Amino acid sequence: MREYFEFYLPTKILAGFSALDNLGFELNILNIKKPLIVSDHVIEKVGVSGIVKNVLEQNGICFSEFLDVPLESSLETVEEIAEFFNKEKCDCLIAVGGGSVIDSAKGVRILLEYPNKKMIELSGADNLNTKFTTPLVVVPTTSGTGSEATLVAVIKDTQNHVKLPFLSYGMLPDLAILDPRSTISLSAKMTAATAMDALVHAIEAYIGTQKNPVSDSFAASAINLISKNVLLAIENPKDNVSRLNLAIASMLAGAAFSNSMVGIVHAIGHS
Ligand SMILES: [Zn+2]
Repeated sequence: MREYFEFYLPTKILAGFSALDNLGFELNILNIKKPLIVSDHVIEKVGVSGIVKNVLEQNGICFSEFLDVPLESSLETVEEIAEFFNKEKCDCLIAVGGGSVIDSAKGVRILLEYPNKKMIELSGADNLNTKFTTPLVVVPTTSGTGSEATLVAVIKDTQNHVKLPFLSYGMLPDLAILDPRSTISLSAKMTAATAMDALVHAIEAYIGTQKNPVSDSFAASAINLISKNVLLAIENPKDNVSRLNLAIASMLAGAAFSNSMVGIVHAIGHS
């Protein structure tokens, strides 16, 4: 038992079979007038951003969209999105996608907060505000990274061939929406691979040096949900229940390692 620990998760979680339908209500609470949807063309094609757009239209909320996020988030893309955000006079980011889309949106939020700084000066741990002005809503379309509940973003500096990590409590999204419609089109292979990422997050959180009773319960719950649902989702990709359970597990594992840190597996991966 640790003598002292901290656990931080300010992100509001909406989870359920039609959780996305509540997006309009939530944006009204946050007093959002014009969100920017950040996504990619694959997500657009399978229709997840379409569900988000329908909800916004039904609630009379106008929006802009940026769909050109590449497979790996880069500084150039982040700068391009931030410029577009300002040009379109948006007031909120809605990231609809996997790790690259979510991390790109987190990067945009940093640039909007520090318009006169270079991203590279802000990378590392605790170089950022702990509260950002631009709200961030995340709709994960894989059940792996847990980025919707972590204080981390990793963005590629293509010129210098390095991945820049950004860590701050302020990086945590305001809202994460876990709806099985977002992950229902994932292939069996992607389902397995992303669930394995989440499982490793949970295991590493459970044995991490900053582990504590709260992160332990998140990690144990994630391991339990993944072990009971991953094969069901692989065998029957359209199964709503196992899809939702994997999405919840991924979020729980993300929140767990965001507080207790990851271990040797990710340390090797980062290098
Ligand atoms: Zn990972």
